[in-house]
Amino acid sequence: MSGRVINFGAGPSALPEAVLEETAKGLLNFRNTGIGIAEISHRSKEFTAYLEETQALIREQLDVPPTHHILFTQGGATGQFSAIILNMLARHRLLHPELTADERTMDYVITGSWSKAAAKEAERLGGARVNTAVDARPYSKDGKTFDNIPLHSAYSFSEDPALIYYCENETVNGVQFSHDDAAPESFPYHLLPKNTLLPLVADYSSSFMSRPIPHLGEHAIVYAGAQKNVGPAGLTIVIVRQDCIVDVDAAAKLGASPVPLAMSYKNLFEGKSMPNTPPVLAIYMSGLVLKRNRDLGGLQYYEESNRIKKEKVYGVLKKGEEVGLFKGHVKEGSGSWMNIVFNVIGEGKEAEFLKGAEAKGLTGLKGHRSMGGVRVSLYNAITVEQTEKLVEYMKEFLAANE
Ligand code: PMP
Repeated sequence: MSGRVINFGAGPSALPEAVLEETAKGLLNFRNTGIGIAEISHRSKEFTAYLEETQALIREQLDVPPTHHILFTQGGATGQFSAIILNMLARHRLLHPELTADERTMDYVITGSWSKAAAKEAERLGGARVNTAVDARPYSKDGKTFDNIPLHSAYSFSEDPALIYYCENETVNGVQFSHDDAAPESFPYHLLPKNTLLPLVADYSSSFMSRPIPHLGEHAIVYAGAQKNVGPAGLTIVIVRQDCIVDVDAAAKLGASPVPLAMSYKNLFEGKSMPNTPPVLAIYMSGLVLKRNRDLGGLQYYEESNRIKKEKVYGVLKKGEEVGLFKGHVKEGSGSWMNIVFNVIGEGKEAEFLKGAEAKGLTGLKGHRSMGGVRVSLYNAITVEQTEKLVEYMKEFLAANE
């Protein structure tokens, strides 16, 4: 469609044009009901079926094991920062009613701004001690920034924590765990407490559905806001293992914090992801994206195209580093496939780079306000061809500044 630019923004971010066009039709008439998707009752058989199909698409493409339920909710990833703590502390209370708050721990792996924000919420809500299993900053190039995934020797987990939390892809800082278990930048699964029902929780907000999730079955909870790879903001997807859907009211009687109804996994599960009105339009659009994904070849397709995309951008970044014009933010090996953060060196050069990009219809490249610099987000809807346009521009910029 004319007038559209290439949007490399970090979220909400680009969606496939075909999905936007299909949405326009659904807004007028959802599945031949004669009613638009934003107008139809969420209790209608058509919408109920659609929601279940959308969950099934996630289950099929991510190969979610039968031990885990897929729940849809609202409140974004920030809502889950709190919901996870409350539900997992309720679970821990039922397992160990005798422990005091000081004797309970929640382990946080802190590799960037989002895991740091999640740990801050844990401190705020209380109910257990917050143990920093690792903080990546001391291992950074300058000793104080989030630019790396620490080596396994840096981690220390508690013996029986209520939860172990990490963020798989740090959207702001551009660091991501490796999916190769042998890599030093992989998540240290082998160091986790030997508990068959590990309380392992992962924020996958900015990498969900971009490639398979390693060790998915070993997680208690994997969650993501939809607004990067899956759909518009408004839908939050939570994959929860059965044993983490607990009777929060029974736990409260034993002294755990009461869990607001909208945050209770039990309430969500029993209400089939709509104990109250769900975000119908966001679910609709996410369903369209997921169907399209399946038709394109599912996660294998995206893993491959996302690999190609990031290799192209890291490739030209390296060339720019060799001549001192670009400077990647992240340490070698820890770089994200989804968000690539770098600086353009030289007086006024960054602004010039961003301005030149805008002029070519390459937008959303300005770094996060806390980081500055340039951030390239390569979510699923960005194609290899669109990535090539950016790479072309980066090469031209290099040539012009040699
Ligand atoms: N975690 C990650 C990895 C994120 O990228 C974001 C922001 N998109 C959040 C958490 C917070 O998400 P939300 O704005 O949906 O609360």
